[in-house]
Amino acid sequence: MIEPCPRCRTGEVLAVLRLPYTWSNAAGRRVRVMSEIAVCGRCDAGDPVTGPIVAYFAVHGSARPEHLAPLARLLRRWAERARPPRPDLDALAAEAEAWYRGEL
Ligand SMILES: [Zn+2]
Repeated sequence: MIEPCPRCRTGEVLAVLRLPYTWSNAAGRRVRVMSEIAVCGRCDAGDPVTGPIVAYFAVHGSARPEHLAPLARLLRRWAERARPPRPDLDALAAEAEAWYRGEL
């Protein structure tokens, strides 16, 4: 089953990178987390790094054995530039307020 994109909820996820990283919590402790970064056929089509990956799958549908080297180059280029998503502080504050109001 194909999972929809977590950002737009409609686009097809074409590739997923699991990126480990650490951050400091409010108590100053280092916390290790894993972030999943996806390439979406809809969200990422216009991006200069992910656009060629989207174009490849639009043309070929799936990874073809005869294209492994060029496809690997596209994926490696994306993976080298991928960074964990920054938290949306406004969304976090809104969620905390909803929790205090008893809505969660
Ligand atoms: Zn999307």
